[in-house]
Amino acid sequence: MELTRDTFQQTVQQFKSQMKPESLSIAEKSLVLEKKGPVALIWFDQHEEKANKLSSANMLRFFELLCQVEDDPSLKALVVASKKPSIFIAGADIGEIKTLASGTTSADSLMKLQSVFTYLERMNIPSIAAIHGASMGGGTELALACDYRIASDSPQTKIGLPEVLLGLIPGWGGTQRMPRLIGLEQSLDMILTGKTVDASKARKMGLVDKIVPTEYLVEKALSWAEELAQSGKKRAFEGQSLKEKLLGTVPGGVWFVCDQARKKVIEKTKGNFPAPLAAIEVIKKTYGGSLDSGLKEEADAFMKLMITPESQNLIHVFYLNEGVKKDKGVEGVRVAARSIVQAGVVGAGVMGGGISQLFAAKGVRVRLKDVQWDAITKGFAAAKRIFQKLVDRRKMKLSDLDNAMERIAGCTDYSGFKKLDLIVEAAVENLEVKRAIFKELDHLTSPQTLLASNTSSLSISEIASSTKNPERVLGMHFFNPVEKMPLVEIIAGEKTSPEAVGTLVAFSKTLGKTPIVVKDSPGFVVNRILGPYLNEAVHLLTEGVRPSQMDSVMEKFGMPMGPCALLDEVGLDVASKVAQVLYGAFGERMKAPENMAQVVSEKRLGKKAGKGIYVYENGERREDAQLLNVFGQKSRASDLTDEVVVRRLVYVMINEASRCVEEKLVRRVSDIDVGMIFGTGFAPFRGGLLKYADTIGAEVIVSDLDVFVRKYGDRFKPSKLLQDYSVSRQKFYSSQDLS
Ligand code: NAD
Repeated sequence: MELTRDTFQQTVQQFKSQMKPESLSIAEKSLVLEKKGPVALIWFDQHEEKANKLSSANMLRFFELLCQVEDDPSLKALVVASKKPSIFIAGADIGEIKTLASGTTSADSLMKLQSVFTYLERMNIPSIAAIHGASMGGGTELALACDYRIASDSPQTKIGLPEVLLGLIPGWGGTQRMPRLIGLEQSLDMILTGKTVDASKARKMGLVDKIVPTEYLVEKALSWAEELAQSGKKRAFEGQSLKEKLLGTVPGGVWFVCDQARKKVIEKTKGNFPAPLAAIEVIKKTYGGSLDSGLKEEADAFMKLMITPESQNLIHVFYLNEGVKKDKGVEGVRVAARSIVQAGVVGAGVMGGGISQLFAAKGVRVRLKDVQWDAITKGFAAAKRIFQKLVDRRKMKLSDLDNAMERIAGCTDYSGFKKLDLIVEAAVENLEVKRAIFKELDHLTSPQTLLASNTSSLSISEIASSTKNPERVLGMHFFNPVEKMPLVEIIAGEKTSPEAVGTLVAFSKTLGKTPIVVKDSPGFVVNRILGPYLNEAVHLLTEGVRPSQMDSVMEKFGMPMGPCALLDEVGLDVASKVAQVLYGAFGERMKAPENMAQVVSEKRLGKKAGKGIYVYENGERREDAQLLNVFGQKSRASDLTDEVVVRRLVYVMINEASRCVEEKLVRRVSDIDVGMIFGTGFAPFRGGLLKYADTIGAEVIVSDLDVFVRKYGDRFKPSKLLQDYSVSRQKFYSSQDLS
């Protein structure tokens, strides 16, 4: 059926009948038409919200405005722009996608909204998208349906199609119009990774036509539109580049490129993410064909993906993230977070070097203190290496590297520490050493200075008790490597003030990190849950499971690396120390298998020592026959299947996580999932550890744990909460408000 106003009106009516009148009136306030001589200017300015979204109400309003433009013969060109300070259009309304997935709105009619952009594209007058700020998903698809795109030169301008990150594919023409505009390979790269590009990269790729200074964006777009209004010039399809033509003419060229992309995706995701694979299929099938049939394929694939558990779980994780963004870290009291401009870091080792680099990268001045110059030099070198990598990847200018490094100053005494806003201690993991440092800091700093420890397992309250002002002492637990790991656990000791917690939560966000607030308890949350997981891995090795087998099944489950590789990364000495702390605090269930100590005594400390569970040589990792001397020669029992291996490893984590919920270590169940996803990379497409537990059901988990108790020992004893949930069939998330 040809797309005309009349045919589309039927869809509009169908939609309006499903919609609340308030959403329509909000859409009316959010999208406004201004006439600027011969140019129609449609503003997106989502009413009372920070971001513009493409809800169905907004899409209908957009269509209505396009009709008004068409009806006015004086209007000869169109500009679409945003009034938001840092967002063009953030994408489709994810809340709506969620309701679609639950079947309350007709997916079929939503997909028909795809036609609004086709309508825009086929209007008789030329159109320009004026992009400043984030243009994501549907926003980029709207821009692609315009004849031309002009972008601001602001670093805030980022253009992308991140739908795969939500387990979806672009559903409003992205898989069709992007390859037509910038070619197959560039589009696959954008669509399959969900990455965003800045204006200058977008210009190079052909995604935008012009870049102008931010303050002149709308003015330039309007004057360009006026020129176009005179000539009436729609964008002529410039024809494919030579490379694209060749791809089309070489038999199987497109298939070859798509199959290569598929291999890459499978290698990276172990096939756990259906969305990029679906995007490849759609593009492979439709590339070079008619737009209308391509759009139909795209819509069909989108609708199938929307109801996959992977997409629903990834959308759940999106909401977890939104929850973190809004969370101030404290409940029931209003706190004014203080700004952190100058900081100190005590201990210039692995973590101290990383923390200093992060602070300096975000504009914070740092004094880095260690007992020896040698260590400071190493800390500086580590920070510089991280910056240099950014320069090599063209994510930082060389001059900015020098400026950032100048923000770090080294010292072997506490000179300049008196008036700092925050000091993070990252010295050796020893309670007495840390208490001595805090006692000294308490004497020599102003009472306003926040004193944080990066300890992995020691008690914040015990550290704080060495000071006279324990209300300003707290934990700020970064994960290794600091520049890569998003999570920070903020630990409140018994006497920590809400203001201190609120300040570090806000500061962590300005560092680009994801903070969760955790009560002071051994191992806090993430290491406490990882402890039994890593112990279990060692038990499994003793039972004849080979490290590469174990790592491979856990990677297939969705972990970024298996537990043996993780042990080697963390360092077996470090893991063993944390295990001792956890054993001391929680008893037998946390006891590390005896051969763990033997591995350490044989100096198999992990990657840093060249050997741990694996051996590392010439940048390669391999299994080591000598490991059998430590773990014994036992052959793997036939009933110790891969599935049992996964369940043993995952269920010990769920069991421990349920104890953390029971002990109220976090304020919300979702904080545990945030911790595990952002602190360990726990399979995001499973929605998080406890979301995954909900998928399995407490009754199944408890029944398996009971079997494991009989077979492998008491460490598998289900927690009280899991047992209760198994009887009441309750879920961890049943009564949780995440947003
Ligand atoms: P590290 O051994 O690499 O560095 C510790 C540094 O502290 C050394 O340079 C040492 O000279 C210095 N130091 C010791 N006593 C000092 C003092 N009194 N004043 C100043 N400097 C002193 O250790 P790391 O791995 O960077 O760990 C530091 C802290 O971070 C520990 O508490 C550890 O538990 C925690 N942590 C480590 C990791 C990790 O993976 N390495 C992850 C999270 C947290």
